[in-house]
Amino acid sequence: MSGLLRSLPSMDALLDTPWAAGFSGSLGRENVKAIISEVLDGLRREVLEAEGGGGGTQPDTPLPELAVARAKSVLEEKTSSTLKPVVNATGVIIHTNLGRAPLADHALRAVNDIAGTYSTLEYSPQAGGRGERNAHVEWSICRMTGAEAALVVNNNAAAVLLALSATAAGREVIVSSGELVEIGSSFRIPDILAFSGAKMVAVGCTNSTRISDYRNAITENTSCLLKVHPSNYRIEGFVKSTPRAELAELAASRSLVFMEDLGSGLLCPLGLPFASREHAVRDCLKAGVGIVTFSGDKLLGGPQIGVIAGSKPLIDKMKRHQLLRALRVDKMTLAAFEATLRLYLAGRQREIPVLSMIEAELPALLKKARALVRLLQRTAALVKNADFTVSLVETSDAIGGGAYPTDTLPGYGAAVRSASDAIPAEKLAAGLRAAHIPVIAGLRDNSVILHVRTLLAGDEQRIAAAFTEAAGRCVPPQAVSALLSV
Ligand SMILES: *Cc1c(COP(=O)(O)O)cnc(C)c1O
Repeated sequence: MSGLLRSLPSMDALLDTPWAAGFSGSLGRENVKAIISEVLDGLRREVLEAEGGGGGTQPDTPLPELAVARAKSVLEEKTSSTLKPVVNATGVIIHTNLGRAPLADHALRAVNDIAGTYSTLEYSPQAGGRGERNAHVEWSICRMTGAEAALVVNNNAAAVLLALSATAAGREVIVSSGELVEIGSSFRIPDILAFSGAKMVAVGCTNSTRISDYRNAITENTSCLLKVHPSNYRIEGFVKSTPRAELAELAASRSLVFMEDLGSGLLCPLGLPFASREHAVRDCLKAGVGIVTFSGDKLLGGPQIGVIAGSKPLIDKMKRHQLLRALRVDKMTLAAFEATLRLYLAGRQREIPVLSMIEAELPALLKKARALVRLLQRTAALVKNADFTVSLVETSDAIGGGAYPTDTLPGYGAAVRSASDAIPAEKLAAGLRAAHIPVIAGLRDNSVILHVRTLLAGDEQRIAAAFTEAAGRCVPPQAVSALLSV
């Protein structure tokens, strides 16, 4: 064995150090041991490879120090949760990667009341026996949409899958070629159709599908006409799609199911100039759609859930389908959803963060942006040797989540940049993301843009803290010494 390898500390020596004991308290001694063992094995391999001329290089740092540094870094990574809060300063309200809709306080309290206790999830105290999980929300969904019946599952992808499996397995489903969409890379209409056991019959062209295209494709094996919301794009120019009412009439005359995947579930009209580009669930059902499916955590502003609403005989069939057991909703989700629906019933939807962000007015956003600019100017002044400037900017915000894909909302924000361009905006943005509470921001003209529309209570302070941390990473250590004395 080489002299270098002999200098590697032993497992026992490392495990007995005070810092390792500290990690044992949170991770368990066996897990700490496994991590240290992996680090030591890796170092041993690297040394042998380097000595054997295998292309590796000898580490510069003395081995014992390197072993300790690597073990500590892995242990720190495993101790901190990876699922943690972030500040969404992107201006994209329904941001799928950042967890879509933040819940209303009312919904948070409902989750808190139910999560740590036994509940009536599937129990009826009146009957003294089994109750129905779905019953907690069905009436509210029906009231808000005008549907005869409703059923909730894990998410909208599950809703589409269950609805198609129960109504169209082994039979044909006619869908417009312009609606064979892919959403978030993992939800593709042709794949979901195949998975449900239905046979897809695509009709028409990308930009134009007429009622006659649907009519001519109907065979004795057709079960369903499917309409899909194009969610993440909009075709401009010559576009012809078939109105719902015509499809509904055709479906009814041939005893077919007319199903629509709406994507975002809009329960009430929004106060937006382009609001009419999205149809509320109620309007779709009124136009004759038999079954609609939509998400709970997009425009609706609730938890991740999928809703199937519409015709009672069809929903009853889905309630009896085997697949439902695999797609059913957890008690915490159901509690949050029920509470969110109650806000709608009570006309208190302004308390739903997604809706209040969408309808936030310009003067309020301007005031919020000015306050953020002032706070960050004060913070920037504390960073010595760096010339960060903070200014008020106009922004283009987005709704996200597949609703109004091409429309933007005018907003305001704070732009932070290095006046001499000594620190690139990408570097500052990366520093903000690496903060204790990460801040996710936009970039424009070599500035980091912090959109205020998507900020929640207390986020301004979190941004200032992240900015201080990020500045420490961006400027040389002596420059931030001033920060340490604040
Ligand atoms: C978002 C979306 C889905 C997927 O919904 P999830 O709730 O994410 O499963 C399906 N269809 C359309 C049209 C969508 O916009």
